[in-house]
Parts: sequence; structure tokens; C-alpha cells
Amino acid sequence: MENPGKEMLASAQNLIKETATKLGYSKSEIDRLIVPDMAYEFSVPFEKDDGSLAVLTGYRIQHNNFRGPYKGGIRFHQDTSREEVQALSTLMSIKCAVADIPMGGGKGGIRVNPKELSESELRRMSKSFARKLAYLIGENVDIPAPDVNTNGKIMQWMLEEYEAIRKIKSPATFTGKSIIHGGSLGRTEATGFGGVIALQELIMRLSDQKQKELSIAIYGFGNVGYYFAEAAAEKGHKIVAVSDSKGAIFTEDLSKGLDIPMVLKCKKEKGTVSGCCCIDGECDLSKGKKITNDQILELPVDILVPAALENVINEKNMRNIKAKIIVEMANGPITEAARKYLTSKQVIIVPDVLANAGGVIVSYLEWVQCKQGYWWSKEDVLEKLDTIMIKAFADVWNQQKIHESDLKTAAFEVAISRILSVIK
Ligand code: NAD
Repeated sequence: MENPGKEMLASAQNLIKETATKLGYSKSEIDRLIVPDMAYEFSVPFEKDDGSLAVLTGYRIQHNNFRGPYKGGIRFHQDTSREEVQALSTLMSIKCAVADIPMGGGKGGIRVNPKELSESELRRMSKSFARKLAYLIGENVDIPAPDVNTNGKIMQWMLEEYEAIRKIKSPATFTGKSIIHGGSLGRTEATGFGGVIALQELIMRLSDQKQKELSIAIYGFGNVGYYFAEAAAEKGHKIVAVSDSKGAIFTEDLSKGLDIPMVLKCKKEKGTVSGCCCIDGECDLSKGKKITNDQILELPVDILVPAALENVINEKNMRNIKAKIIVEMANGPITEAARKYLTSKQVIIVPDVLANAGGVIVSYLEWVQCKQGYWWSKEDVLEKLDTIMIKAFADVWNQQKIHESDLKTAAFEVAISRILSVIK
């Protein structure tokens, strides 16, 4: 597809329209969640190392702030489009409301392949982007964070530029910063850990799965996938397969599962998890096998965790999915058609707006700490994450019981009611 952002935006908007209509909201109320509050599209000029000037396209979309300041990441990607940024900002409004944190939805990005830039070019581009945002954001207005291909260092460059222009000290304006610049302990682990909190809450409510140690395949062994694997293994589940962009590894030894810290060590050495069949502190390929990224999605496991890209479970492979539980750790990993099909086959999908909300929850906790000028221990932060995730899961689960819907629809119902009740 030419612009996958268009499909993502259409799916989010369709679900909002369907859900809000069912809840009895009027067209004008629903339009407050369809039309973003503000959508900025602007040039991002910066000097290349050879002295020439590059001019890129940047976006910041402030979707809805009924419940609090806009909140959402900034991504640098060659496929980033206005529609994609709008879709992601819409989902941020929903996600913050599901988590019941006092924030609205925003998102930003630059259409660029950052891997083609030197470090100094990346810095000049980030600062140019921050100059354009300087009077559009702020700790009580709009709070950006890292997303695809951005990180704490880039947030710090942008914050420095913002503070220089506004002549203030305002670390709460950006989250996802490094600890020495006012970041929060626990942020790195938050999204993966939060996903496992949601999974455990689900298992507790499923009578047939109670107390069971389940087999899990994780598609995408990056930040989110790794911490999900670590926390799930700690709960006694067996991670039997993991993948990254270069391939996947699978062990049939359900009694043990993969040794997750060893797989990470091996991946760092080899540059991929493919070949890293590590069990009980030893990596030995004879104990498992290399498989492809397509195959990992179709394994006969209890739980499938897509934690990499959008639309990986779609009309082409939905009939081959064997897992009975899917935890959406990536944003939008299941297309609308596949979600409807899998739901009709009684597959339980823990939706992205709930499953991966741990990231924005700890970003919110970082904002609170920066605003109050007092930082909590990692244990305190993770305990607060636990409390917020458990309540969010319960709210969605209880809503699902009322309308006998799937968890994604229930999450949208909870969020839409919370957002629109502000203007009622
Ligand atoms: P990351 O870059 O750390 O990891 C992504 C992983 O996906 C890498 O292991 C990469 O090799 C793998 N991958 C890339 N292409 C692949 C392919 N074709 N097949 C299989 N694997 C592939 O990113 P992350 O921070 O872990 O984010 C993963 C997903 O979670 C994204 O959708 C992101 O938007 C979402 N998310 C992240 C956070 C967060 O806090 N990091 C919060 C909410 C949602």
C-alpha cells in the first residue's frame, strides 16, 4: 500500500464512529474525536555536513485535550505521513483515556530516513524541528516523547532548543529523557512490563487458563519485546520463540523455554536473535530451530505477542494464527479485518491502547516528577504503573461484560465515554 497511514487512520476513525454511535453520541460530539484540534505541517530546514541545505516535512498533530495536555511521541521515518501522525495522535487520546491519566492525544514526526544522517545532521534536524514547535508545545500544553527512531538524547536536544527560545527551565515539556536530564526510573521497562501486568490480569479472569504456565511467541525482540519476555518468564511462562528483523528462533522444549537474558547477550554478539537458541545459560542451535518471521506468527503457542510493526496480522495470514490469546504490544499490529475474523474465532486480543499503555503511563509519571521537582525510586514508579494498569484492565474487562463486545471495542467505549463526558 502506498500510504499505510491512511488505512490506520480509517480503522481508528471507523471504530470511534461505530462505538460512539452505539453509545448514543451525536455527530457533532463524535466529530470532536474525528477532526483533530490542530494539525501542523511544516518545513524542517537544516544544514547537511557538506554545507548544503536539506528541507524536510515535519508534523505535529494535537488531536484532543479535553482531559489534559496533548501527549505523544515524535517519530523519524521515511514513510511517516500526515495520515499516520493523525492516526497515532487519535490513538494516543484513546490510550490516555483508557489508562485514565490526565492527558490528551498528540503525535509528531519528520518524513526522513534517519539512518542516512550523521550524528551532527541528526542533531541539527532535531533542533530545527524543536524551533518550529517552540510556541506550540509546553508542559501544560503538549508534551512530546520518543517514538520510532527517536530516543532520550534527541528529546534532550529538543528540550535544550525549546528552553533556549522560551528562556525558561521546563524539563516537564519532554518525557523519555535520560535519568540525568530528569527522566524517570522504570521508563525503559515500562511498556513491556505493563503488557505482562495486563496479560496476568486476563489470565486471572479466564477460568480455563488459571495458574497455567503458558507458551509465548514474541514477534519483535526490541525494547518492548525484551522486557515483556523478561517479565513473562518471571511469571513462569515459557518464551518458546522470539524474532527480530533478520529472523526468528523457536524451541519445542516447553519445559524450560528460552533463557531471555542469554538470548539478548547472544543477539548483541551476532546482531540477530536468529541462531540464539539459548536455554539454561547455554546457546545451542541443536536445541531448537531457525524459523522465518512469517512462521513465528503461525506457531501453535498459547499466546502471540506482536511487538514490532503495524499490520503484521492481516487478511493473508489470519486463518493460520493458532494462538488463542494475542497481546498487541506494537501499535496497530492487527488489521481491522483480521481483528474481526479472529474475534469471531474466539481469539482474545488484548488491544494496543491497553496492552502497551505502560509507556505513556510512566511518561505521565515522569511529567509529574518533573513538575513537582521530586523523583521517586524505581520500585515506587513500578508500583504506580502496576496500580494504574490493573485498574485500566478491570475497567475495560467490566465494560466488555456490559455489551458483550471484544476488548478493543470495550477499550474504545471506556475511552470515548471518558473523553466526551468532559463536554456533556
Ligand atoms: P525497537 O526498535 O526497540 O524494537 C523493534 C523490534 O522489532 C526490533 O527487534 C526489530 O528488529 C524488530 N523488527 C523490525 N522489523 C521487523 C520485522 N519485519 N519482523 C520482525 N521483527 C522486526 O522498538 P520498540 O520500542 O520495542 O517498539 C516496538 C513497537 O511497540 C512499536 O510498534 C512501537 O510503536 C510500540 N510501542 C513502543 C513503546 C515504547 O515504550 N517503546 C510504547 C508503546 C508502543
